[in-house]
Amino acid sequence: AKDMGKNTFAFHSQEMIAQVFERGRMEGCLHTAVAQSQFVLHYQPQFVLAGEEFHGVEALIRWQHPELGMVPPGSFIPLAEETGIIEIIGEWAIREACRQMRTWLDEGIDVRCIAVNLSPRQFRRGHLLDIVCSALDESGLEGERLELEITENALMENPENASAVLAELREMGVRIAIDDFGSGYSSLSYLKQFPLDTLKIDRSFISPLPEDGDMAAIVEAIVEMATKLRLTVVAEGVENSTQSSYLRHIGCTVAQGYHYSKPLAADLLPKSVRQVLDM
Ligand code: C2E
Ligand code: CA
Ligand code: CA
Ligand code: CA
Repeated sequence: AKDMGKNTFAFHSQEMIAQVFERGRMEGCLHTAVAQSQFVLHYQPQFVLAGEEFHGVEALIRWQHPELGMVPPGSFIPLAEETGIIEIIGEWAIREACRQMRTWLDEGIDVRCIAVNLSPRQFRRGHLLDIVCSALDESGLEGERLELEITENALMENPENASAVLAELREMGVRIAIDDFGSGYSSLSYLKQFPLDTLKIDRSFISPLPEDGDMAAIVEAIVEMATKLRLTVVAEGVENSTQSSYLRHIGCTVAQGYHYSKPLAADLLPKSVRQVLDM
């Protein structure tokens, strides 16, 4: 019954979002949202499968709309990308994530790494590098503490630009993750072409595990390939203990998903991590 209620809420909320934002009002609202600091980051913890250790977090943006409440990113990121406002929102997200990371470290909470999603539009030369550089500076973080998540499609849009930007990020120590790995249409040759650190296997590959033998074969092959390329492999959308045991068994490095924790407000994260580790 609880789950039903949740779905019903999500359904109404999507309808309300559509109503509130009809006639192109959303773009103006996004500008207001930036000006009035209505965005917030939630954090989903990631765990090292082998030792059941806390690894780090992925920062996921939400919009605290005065009438609608929490608006999920799927409802506004596409328009923000189209209109270019994503560049402002995305810059805020990088700075805010670094600021929060500094706070956790100062509190003695050992978050190894914070992952921030990058939109393809943010992935432009000088500007992104300046933003990342100053966000690290302001928060006094080593580059190794920050991971940027980018989709394979965004990399392949302009491979030369991508190579140059990734090389400079690498120089700062910043880690690069391929988000939604396997869901795009790229060839695998880019894995050799770019300086990458992490592959995040898309949830659509993890959900059918372990019953779906064909999907299991694909995931095992991805993990084996990534291991040989010395990449960290993160499984997204791990929802039960059968999946987590299976992923540990096949040598997947890190797992993230509702089985461990949903994305949480920053102040709720430490308690949730302790609960998972006590499980
Ligand atoms: P993503 O980067 O693939 O993020 C994973 C999404 O899966 C998140 O949805 C997360 O809440 C959800 N998730 C995590 N574990 C599970 C699970 O076990 N089961 C299921 N069913 N879902 C799970 P969310 O937070 O709604 O974000 C959706 C997308 O919005 C993200 O997909 C990402 O592409 C985008 N996004 C989020 N924050 C930002 C941001 O700061 N900048 C940009 N450019 N995009 C963002
Ligand atoms: Ca992501
Ligand atoms: Ca993803
Ligand atoms: Ca996704």
